Amino acid sequence: MKCAVVGFPRVGKLRELKFVCEKYFRGEITEEYLNEAAREIRKEHWQLQQSAGIDFISSNDFSFYDNMLDTAILLDVIPNEYRELNLNQQNTYLAMARGYQGIQGDVKALAMKKWFNTNYHYMVPELNDDVQIKLFGNKPFDEYVEAKALGIETKPVIIGPFTFLKLAKYIGSKTADDYVRQATNAYTAILKKLNELGTKWVQFDEPVLVTDLSEDDIRLFVLLYETILEGKSNVKVLLQTYFGDVRDYYRDIAKMKFDAIGLDFLEGKQSLKLLRTYGFPQEKFLFAGVINGKNIWSCNYKKTLELLSEIKKHAENVIISTSCSLLHVPYTLEYETKLEAEVKKHFAFAIEKLGELHELSIIAETESYDYKAFTEYTNNRKIYETERLYNDENIQAAVATLTEEDFIRKVDRKDREQLQKKEFGLPLLPTTTIGSFPQTQDVKNNRSSYRAGEIDEETYDRQVFVFIKECIRKQEELGLDVLVHGEYERNDMVEFFGENLAGYVFTEKAWVQSYGTRCVKPPIIFGDVRRIRPITVKYSVYAQSLTKKPVKGMLTGPVTILNWSFPREDITLQEMAYQIGIAIREEVCDLENAGIRIIQIDEAALKEKLPIRREEWYSEYLDWAIPAFRLCHSSVKPETQIHTHMCYSEFEEIVKDIDNMDADVISFEASRSKLSIIDVLKANHFETEVGPGVYDIHSPRIPSVEEIVEALQKMLEKLDRNKLWVNPDCGLKTRGVPETVASLINLVKAAEIVRKQISIEHDFTKNG
Ligand code: GLN
Ligand code: ZN
Repeated sequence: MKCAVVGFPRVGKLRELKFVCEKYFRGEITEEYLNEAAREIRKEHWQLQQSAGIDFISSNDFSFYDNMLDTAILLDVIPNEYRELNLNQQNTYLAMARGYQGIQGDVKALAMKKWFNTNYHYMVPELNDDVQIKLFGNKPFDEYVEAKALGIETKPVIIGPFTFLKLAKYIGSKTADDYVRQATNAYTAILKKLNELGTKWVQFDEPVLVTDLSEDDIRLFVLLYETILEGKSNVKVLLQTYFGDVRDYYRDIAKMKFDAIGLDFLEGKQSLKLLRTYGFPQEKFLFAGVINGKNIWSCNYKKTLELLSEIKKHAENVIISTSCSLLHVPYTLEYETKLEAEVKKHFAFAIEKLGELHELSIIAETESYDYKAFTEYTNNRKIYETERLYNDENIQAAVATLTEEDFIRKVDRKDREQLQKKEFGLPLLPTTTIGSFPQTQDVKNNRSSYRAGEIDEETYDRQVFVFIKECIRKQEELGLDVLVHGEYERNDMVEFFGENLAGYVFTEKAWVQSYGTRCVKPPIIFGDVRRIRPITVKYSVYAQSLTKKPVKGMLTGPVTILNWSFPREDITLQEMAYQIGIAIREEVCDLENAGIRIIQIDEAALKEKLPIRREEWYSEYLDWAIPAFRLCHSSVKPETQIHTHMCYSEFEEIVKDIDNMDADVISFEASRSKLSIIDVLKANHFETEVGPGVYDIHSPRIPSVEEIVEALQKMLEKLDRNKLWVNPDCGLKTRGVPETVASLINLVKAAEIVRKQISIEHDFTKNG
């Protein structure tokens, strides 16, 4: 059996690409130097795959910034404002990626969006009415030739026309349908050129096929490819899907003239069923995605071979492949020196997955199904023989015995509201912040000295307390109503909690690309999760001791902790979320017992793993995600006020569920997105008090008093004045001190002005 890789991580084993790109951005190296470094990285990646025995190696999976953006350039989809900068192709590309500010002009970057259900973000191509899609760039051809020169035949990977057109943003009056002709011509030209180069296979990525589509969408897909495939000559075309299954369109696709179809058998819950029901066309190759491109666990050969033999019953020509690009897993285990062997043996990152692919492709060949004859197989079996570390029967029992009561606050929202109004005596439109204050160099130095072992915990904490004290003083001076301690003890909302939870393991170099050159290092949930010790209590208690105003306790919620970690695969997401929920609940109780009266539980990533298919939103996700949050705060006193925070306001479609989290107050990003969410809140009789962010913290710009006043007035047209809070968009940790102070001064002033307006109005109606 042959084996294939959908795509390989591109950032380099020690993030070489990131560092060399950033040097280029800072003007420290030339374009030639940058390109040479990139060539080295590509070469290493191809050779690695070749020596691992991979039969179908991708090219053009490399990118300096993003593959969607690469495709935009390939198709000449370059908005005028970037063209008019008159930069060379490389710098035009980077201007679209990062914005440009210089002698040639001042243009913002293209928008960025989450890539399906991953934590990767792509650049959104913009199609205005002037754009003419046509073959323009050379990247896939150049990289194919480059690999060929190294003696490696690759399959260029290109984002397909359907996914490209569906994900693009239409600025003018045209829609996807208006570009069909141009797109088919461009892709036909791509095939022609590849044919001239002698390319054997090309892979068109069409992940949009795993989303809910209309009949028109499918018609568009068929229309595009019928024409494109019509003109193809010797190049074989692989239609690659991932992140789910193609349930309703399988038969349409199977009929078409693709030479191969790539299906995801891991996230694609119905892929196998589709094969069983409809079979697989004899003349085609099936690229069976059975090696997980999204998670870090060793492949269980027994299970995977069973799956493969099931697949082989229905398809004649099977090639074993990854479920999606390996972009979403870290590069290699090689540099993980601190993991215990008992832990490490359970993991396979990208390079180790190549080994698995190759081994499986050999074992799967055997006709007799006598896998035990292979030492690779018996070695793999050994991983699963011993009991997993960090099994915790107590926590398992605690989850198993949760009852309905554990998810319900005793007093309902309306009554709580009254009690809390009395308890806190806050003014109308109370002002607050989201939690973190600027992480100054001093704050960072303190943390790195501690991490390096130069100072002990006590010294470290003493310094954190100094920062907290100054932060409280500053907030009192600013006149904010509900204070925070500033989050100086953490720089990451998940890692900080993970470090205090049993069951978590951390890596040293396991970076995964998030966007552009930015990477994240998600911790791994290895075993049952339990809180080891109080996590935030000392900081919050100290902060509260400095002031009469309420200081919010500040926690990360269970769904966010789960979504920003690599999850286990041996228990359900729900179980993990409840285990983490119990840990956070213990922290909530300790905070409350220590006199903290307002507790914020951030759920910044709540929407991140909402299933791609609407029919699975509840059964697969919201039915446990919302309860996991409720579990954290169900047992607090009615006077204790629970806040939550989200980093986005695109929750229109699930407002009811957000309300159902039963928090008392929610803050969210609203300054960049138009205030349309406010209408939705009103229409749905949203009950939770709300703090839509009144200014954007992602930019150093200082908002004026007038614009904040105006934003608040707009909000008050739709929202109950007794339920409106005034706060920035998100935490202030990435900002500098001067702009933060200036912005908050204006925020407090604006709140005061609007409060006065309200009271005048109030007197007027009372007397008038
Ligand atoms: N409380 C966190 C902060 O203020 C929230 C961060 C976030 O939403 N990403 O930094
Ligand atoms: Zn946020």
